[in-house]
Amino acid sequence: MPGGHRDILIVGAGATGLAAALELVRRGHRPRIIDSDAGPVPLVESRALGINARTMTLLSPSRVSDVIQQVAFRVDRLRARSGERILFEIDPGRVTGKFHAMQILAQGHTERLLISKLSDYEVEPEWQTVLERVEGSMEKPIVVLRRPDGTAEEAAPDILIGADGAHSAVRKAAGLGFPGQALEASFYLADYQYPQPVDPHYVEIELVDPGMIGRLPVSSDTVRYLSTLPDFEKRIRHPMPGGQAVWVSNFRIHFRHVEKMSVGNVFLAGDAAHIHSPAGARGMNLGIEDACWLAYLISEGREQEYSARRIPAVKTVLKQTYGLTSMVTMRNPVATKLRNMLAPLAVRIPFVANRLLRGVAGYDTPPPPWIDGAQ
Ligand SMILES: Cc1cc2nc3c(=O)[nH]c(=O)nc-3n(C[C@H](O)[C@H](O)[C@H](O)COP(=O)(O)OP(=O)(O)OC[C@H]3O[C@@H](n4cnc5c(N)ncnc54)[C@H](O)[C@@H]3O)c2cc1C
Repeated sequence: MPGGHRDILIVGAGATGLAAALELVRRGHRPRIIDSDAGPVPLVESRALGINARTMTLLSPSRVSDVIQQVAFRVDRLRARSGERILFEIDPGRVTGKFHAMQILAQGHTERLLISKLSDYEVEPEWQTVLERVEGSMEKPIVVLRRPDGTAEEAAPDILIGADGAHSAVRKAAGLGFPGQALEASFYLADYQYPQPVDPHYVEIELVDPGMIGRLPVSSDTVRYLSTLPDFEKRIRHPMPGGQAVWVSNFRIHFRHVEKMSVGNVFLAGDAAHIHSPAGARGMNLGIEDACWLAYLISEGREQEYSARRIPAVKTVLKQTYGLTSMVTMRNPVATKLRNMLAPLAVRIPFVANRLLRGVAGYDTPPPPWIDGAQ
């Protein structure tokens, strides 16, 4: 049954759930979207920073990308260094297309832009509303929700979308495993705010063999440092004195994805279906891409094609992020020497540079057929 008459419940109002709601509402549906949190992710604890060109394309029909263009920073240089030596520098602007390959906007801002656009269609996320259980068959699931006042509610949506993150209750209820592996090493993160503006237009990886320190802009005065080294804060090349750490965190990296992204009328999108390393800035972008594909297929009455269409894209991205992560975390001294010698030569080969940049832009997965000229 295509069209706007099906009862759709989205669990999770992160970037993925919000993008699904927006794309559905734009196509004439009235989805309901719930989230256990009290509101969107706080601005200072934004995990995702990079918005790629594919996401910009996907968010162009809703015009969210117009607003992102106004407020985000373009990444003009991707640089790798080993100590004082610059191994290579690439301009992501070399990727042709309507949108710049990579822009920077903290996830908290992106989520707020999606919420604001959704409110134009009079759809608001229901915060502090938790999916507790899914019962019945996955063809016609019955969900038990806990509302903010503590009361329980039972609902029987025609379509249930699990955009409820890595620990997805929807995925578990659908009986789907989450096979994969975790890297042994932990990663460490610190966001430093400086008293003066910083250069927000470049991303750098410093290889401090063994290990790395990544540097990414967060905003006009804040820089994120990401590392494999617990004591990395001592080794940061600060752009100026007076920086204050405003958020520090550490996390383990997992590479996992479900084998099927749907069971019956239950669909998974975003981190609920796949998780991987932040290398390449793909996670949120891939979740938004899932969401837009799912909304398109639901509108066409072809949602049963969703899993088969998305799994190859998920595998492509996991492979790319695994490769990038392995490159920057290698410990063997011979291998690191070889990498530092070969990487500058490799990126001079047009095929290699193009492939890298198409991944940065998110153009290595199938383009959305509903957007004219999308690449
Ligand atoms: C350090 C770091 C840096 C990253 N950088 C990037 C980057 O630059 N670019 C990029 O694209 N990605 C990046 N990522 C990945 C990105 O943050 C995630 O892929 C993205 O947040 C996934 O969005 P999501 O909406 O699928 O899941 P989430 O953001 O996890 O949202 C899930 C939502 O579901 C809600 N929820 C969970 N359970 C329930 C329940 N039972 N009932 C109701 N609600 C529920 C949660 O409250 C949450 O709001 C990074 C990740 C890390 C760790």
